[in-house]
Amino acid sequence: MPLRLKHNKAQAQAGNISQWKRLISQYQFRTKKEVYYPDRSSEIKRPTLMATKQSLPVARPQQQRGLPKDYYYKVLGVNRLASVQQIRSAFYALAKRYHPDSMHSEEKLKHFQELSNAYNILTDETKRLEYDQLGGIKDEQAFLEQAGNPMHMDMSLKLDDAGVPSQEEIQKLTSSEFDLPLTFVEATVGCKKRLDLRYLLKCDSCKGKSQLMANRDVGKEPCRRCNGTGKVTTKTVTYTAVNTCSQCKGKRYINRNDCDTCHNRGYVLGNVEVLITVPAGSKAGDVVSVDNPNTRQRVNYHLQVPTNDYFRRVGNDIHTDKYLNISDAILGGTFSVPGLYENVDVRVEAGTQSHTKVVLKNKGVRTREGAGNHIITLKVRIPCNLSVKQRQLVLALAQAEEPVFEFHKSNV
Ligand SMILES: [Zn+2]
Ligand SMILES: [Zn+2]
Repeated sequence: MPLRLKHNKAQAQAGNISQWKRLISQYQFRTKKEVYYPDRSSEIKRPTLMATKQSLPVARPQQQRGLPKDYYYKVLGVNRLASVQQIRSAFYALAKRYHPDSMHSEEKLKHFQELSNAYNILTDETKRLEYDQLGGIKDEQAFLEQAGNPMHMDMSLKLDDAGVPSQEEIQKLTSSEFDLPLTFVEATVGCKKRLDLRYLLKCDSCKGKSQLMANRDVGKEPCRRCNGTGKVTTKTVTYTAVNTCSQCKGKRYINRNDCDTCHNRGYVLGNVEVLITVPAGSKAGDVVSVDNPNTRQRVNYHLQVPTNDYFRRVGNDIHTDKYLNISDAILGGTFSVPGLYENVDVRVEAGTQSHTKVVLKNKGVRTREGAGNHIITLKVRIPCNLSVKQRQLVLALAQAEEPVFEFHKSNV
């Protein structure tokens, strides 16, 4: 203990205890010893934690890899104005050639990966916009990992018979009821969505008749190539090979009503782009209908809207929370708060109590019946882990503060 303080202590002991308290608190501010931190170990951990966070790998945008800005368009061989449909067919055509199942080679696998990346980004409306503007997307790696392999995503489209619907698909597409997943903001604010509508087309080759004839014996006759054996024997001088007959595929008979175009399903898949307008104020379970421009058939899209962690909707009002530090609440200030339509600057008065509500008029859901408000609840966050400096400052504040006046029985 410094000599001067010893001297002071002696003085204090002499009688003036409050003065002694003041002196000891002054001493605490001068000293560099971190005596007041309650949990020293967690304080030491903090900087290292920050350091590891920063060293995490960050996905590099396209242009940093030294690739041209329209690289993904070039990969698919389409121009920048290509429709989703064009991108899709370009992808499937190329994917057949480079699909890792069809040929095992490191290079092909890599190329197929690039094709999938291009497909995933360019068929996602928002990502494509971002890619067009920036030549890359911010969270590319994460997005692509989550998007996965488009071939797996679309199991119904097999490589061999793309365009021929499976039985399951026929059932699904006949009902003309689809789910349309939207984000909370898309549904609440309203949006326009360009969708690929897949539908059943009566097969042109068989006029849809093969489906009816397929399981009957009408038109059934022994395969001529294999003479009804299902096998073809190839003989040369040196070897004999027995293969499954390619004409009847081993079934021993052929049916002249068989249709190769639709594989006897009677239908092929049609594909048309439709524009869907989701009105503002839509919510989960709402149905948006659109007419298939090719068949005039009405198609219903059932909206799927997840709840949002940030926005809560009550009628046409939107509720959000804004957390403030103690000092923000005490001193006031202007804070940017994400709104439904844009970021909003919210003015917080000095001396704001926790759970004070700020109402932004007409910033809620805007439906035909009128607009709701955006109601922000300001919540003061009391810190739990103070640094040494913060704790010292709060101690100083505590010393300067008046006790909270409360009514007790004794006061009444
Ligand atoms: Zn057919
Ligand atoms: Zn045959």
